[in-house]
Parts: sequence; structure tokens; C-alpha cells
Amino acid sequence: MGRDFLDQRLNAVKLTALLALFGLGATSALTGPQKQQLVRLVQAYPAFLAGVRGDQLLWRDGTLMPMTASGAASYVARLNQPGLLDQLATPYPACQPLAVPAYDFDPGRARFEPLFKKMYGESAAGVRQNLEAVNWFGQTVQVTRVNGVAASLQAIARELATQPKLLPYVRPSAGTFLWRTVAGTPRLSVHSFGAAIDLNIKLSAYWQWDGYAEGQRGIRYRNQIPAALVNIFERHGWIWGGRWYHYDTMHFEYRPELTNQTACMKK
Ligand SMILES: [Zn+2]
Repeated sequence: MGRDFLDQRLNAVKLTALLALFGLGATSALTGPQKQQLVRLVQAYPAFLAGVRGDQLLWRDGTLMPMTASGAASYVARLNQPGLLDQLATPYPACQPLAVPAYDFDPGRARFEPLFKKMYGESAAGVRQNLEAVNWFGQTVQVTRVNGVAASLQAIARELATQPKLLPYVRPSAGTFLWRTVAGTPRLSVHSFGAAIDLNIKLSAYWQWDGYAEGQRGIRYRNQIPAALVNIFERHGWIWGGRWYHYDTMHFEYRPELTNQTACMKK
């Protein structure tokens, strides 16, 4: 028996044990990829999530949250009212080379709002109670301390400080916490939860500023942000809006359920 074969067997055994641990045994109706996405979700937010029971997400406080996929036919309708499974459905290419995203490829852009509200706060006042000041290259920015977001952003700043070439892109920050919907949509931005940061607007590109409509074909991708900068955020569990067809290259948000730690560790 070759070593590779043994490794594969071992990994399969580990995965089966892990799925059972999180309540995702063989009786679940979910697909294999969905089960793995849910394990990553539970592992990403250990302070809040305990596992899965049947077709529901189990919270540490005993709350059960439905795991559904949106039945909406159009891309925009699904984006506006996603289920929890839609949030996880598109794999995010963390720490992969930068590439021009395919049509409507927006990993992480669909967000199941009840999940975020329950962790970070139901209202601006609720989120504000958990805000913490972070020193962003001499500028004070406010992000949530929930899920270790503030500590994570401070660690990113320390790492960036060792790479002076990257600093023009990151300072000044164009904003962190702001309770608001995404422009022109009913969806709350992750800025509402204090778990996002916009970098230097002058070196950024945003599809709406270039005059495009949501979901239209032929959006011409633009980006100046270097991969080295993107990878630093991704290693710390943040995703980048520059990996979206609907590009927003100043935007990073804390979404550790989507960043592939294994790929990032090799960098
Ligand atoms: Zn943003």
C-alpha cells in the first residue's frame, strides 16, 4: 500500500469523523460540498456556532437557524434574499493568483443577514456596543471586537507596516463601520456590522462608479491592488471585493468561512 493511498484513507476517516462531530452524519440530505462548507462555517465562528441538526444550523445558545437555498430565478433576486446555503455556495479563491472574475462570479457577496445580525448586532446601536478602535497607520478606525475582528485588523496593520510599498494602497482608509444598505439595493453592507474596511479610494475601482448595472454582461474589470496586499488580508480571514465580477477593489470584509486556510498557509 502506497503512502498516498494511506494518506487518502486517513483524510477520509478524519473528514467522516469531523462531519459526525458537527452533526453532519450520513443521514443528512445535504450534498458533500455543502457539508464541508457548513463545517467551515461552524469552525469559522466558534464563539457562536455549535454544529448542525438535521437541516438547521445549531447555535451555542440553542437557536436553530434554517439552512436553505433561495428559490429565486434571477441572480439579483437570489442576492437580495439568499438562504444560508447560497452564502456558502461559491468557493472563494483565497490566496490564489489574481484573475479577471467570470460573469456574475461574486463569491461571498450573497450574505444571509440573520446570521450576521445575530453575531454582530441587530441595529446600529447594537453593533456600536461592540466597536473597538484600531490604529490604522495613525488613523483611528472603528471595527467590531466580535469574532476577533478588531484584533485581526490590528494584526493586518502590523504586517502591512513591514511592507512600505503597499502602504499607499491602504491609507487613508475610506471607512469601516457605517450602518447602511449597499448602494441601490435592499441589502445591508458588512460595514453595518463593523466587520469591513475600505482602503484608499484613489487607488481603487468600483463597478458602480464605472456606470454599470447589477448583473449586466460585459463589465470591464479594473484593478490596481497588488496580490501581496490581498493575500495578507486573506491569510487573516478577510475576503476581497476585487475577486468579484462586480468589483469593489477597496473593500475587504471578515469572512473566515470562505478563506481557504490551507491554500493561504503555503504563501
Ligand atoms: Zn466596502
